Amino acid sequence: MEKRTKILATLGPASNSVEMIEGLIKAGANMFRLNFSHGDHEYHSTTLKNIRKAMNNLNTTIAVLQDISGPKVRIGELEEPFKLFKGDEITFIKNDIVGYKEADKKYVVSINYPDLLDKVKEGEYIYLYDGTIRAKVIETGEEIKAVIENQGTLGSKKGINFPNTVIDIDVITEKDKADIKWGVENKVDYFAISFVQNKNDIENARKLLGNYKGRIIAKIEKFDAVQNIDEIIEVSDGIMVARGDLGIEVPYYEVPTIQKRLIKKANQACIPVITATQMLLSMTENERATRAEISDVANAVLDGTDAVMLSEESAVGIDPINTVDTMAHIIRETEEIYPFDKHDKLAYHDKFDVIQATATKLADDLNATGIIALTSSGKSAMKISRYRPRTPIYIFTHKRRVLNPLCANWGVQPIAKIKEAQASKMIHSMLKHLEAKELLNKDGIYIATIGYPVGQPGSTNTIKILTPSEMEYYLNLPTMKKK
Ligand code: PGA
Ligand code: MN
Repeated sequence: MEKRTKILATLGPASNSVEMIEGLIKAGANMFRLNFSHGDHEYHSTTLKNIRKAMNNLNTTIAVLQDISGPKVRIGELEEPFKLFKGDEITFIKNDIVGYKEADKKYVVSINYPDLLDKVKEGEYIYLYDGTIRAKVIETGEEIKAVIENQGTLGSKKGINFPNTVIDIDVITEKDKADIKWGVENKVDYFAISFVQNKNDIENARKLLGNYKGRIIAKIEKFDAVQNIDEIIEVSDGIMVARGDLGIEVPYYEVPTIQKRLIKKANQACIPVITATQMLLSMTENERATRAEISDVANAVLDGTDAVMLSEESAVGIDPINTVDTMAHIIRETEEIYPFDKHDKLAYHDKFDVIQATATKLADDLNATGIIALTSSGKSAMKISRYRPRTPIYIFTHKRRVLNPLCANWGVQPIAKIKEAQASKMIHSMLKHLEAKELLNKDGIYIATIGYPVGQPGSTNTIKILTPSEMEYYLNLPTMKKK
């Protein structure tokens, strides 16, 4: 059986060719992230073209997530990576320069939000490279001097955090607006918004989409976002537990409990949740993951995450395909002990939840081979997924744009767009597609849910139990004759 937890792989120089993307899909990637913190529109257009080519070549469905960089504070380019040691001095200057080594144990860098340097006070901390290098501010003024307190290698454009400093900057920058426009024009499935603080940030992002029905993921990576999680979830189409920045913005020991709380809330709200960052980080340079990383992936799966994400591991790592393959192996093994069948454990939001809960309960009780569902908005697919059925969830839609984003949802296998609108013809068509993909077991039992008449979101009103003889009947229905 296909693994149920999804893999979101970030594409980069190590992985953005058609050949590599096909390899990643075969190894288990379901979604790709275009990280707009790096690269220009031309670069991302090429990658997107390659994703779509790979998707066509393999005749499969993939979701594309555009990660909007937001007001991420970063250092500028460096002449070469700095090998920093305790006691070294680093100077942050306002001019836009290429960072350089000034003298022995003395380095100079620029940052992309130079005005922030005015807000930093002596004694505060500056964290470099996603919190791995810690520097204490010893001198302020036109430039900031800080002393490194631990060792690490700093590369170009790495993130800086100011965990003690209030930095009130707009969460959607001018660059982000241009990037979102690119995403709308290129029809990406998801827009991930960084450094979200409250629901206004998501509402502002949605205004920028205009009529385009793209989905918005709130990246939870700030302390205020954790506090405002309920209102953020209410207006978002998904969330990301963005542990990289989150782990610097909140005390590090809170990250696992925040992860579990956020996953539970997203499951309850019926929106997909992605657990991100450092999942298999050591595989960026090594063939094998550490025991702790392997356990981390397994635990995120057991927490109930819809997807797990790879960042530099798949973007610039030595072996992106091996990394996705490792992740897929961990997921498959962990799902052997998965807490399936939650149809009696989650509160209902509306009357349609009863239908999806009943369908999954039927599938469970009848030991079905699969659930087949037609969804017009995607909502029924998400509701079925939320109950974590033991059986595969095969999803059909009438619109392509509804199909792709469902790649993010746990257990959902988006199969095809169908044209038919009459109940029996729809079932015929769905079974034919499964047969063609060699996914149909004609000796099994399937639970099918459809809304009829079609076209109204949230209109699922029919549950069918398809036994072998009924399947035979529907498969042999005469198809509509062309006039
Ligand atoms: P990033 O987001 O990789 O864009 O920083 C993820 C995170 O912060 O964990
Ligand atoms: Mn981040």
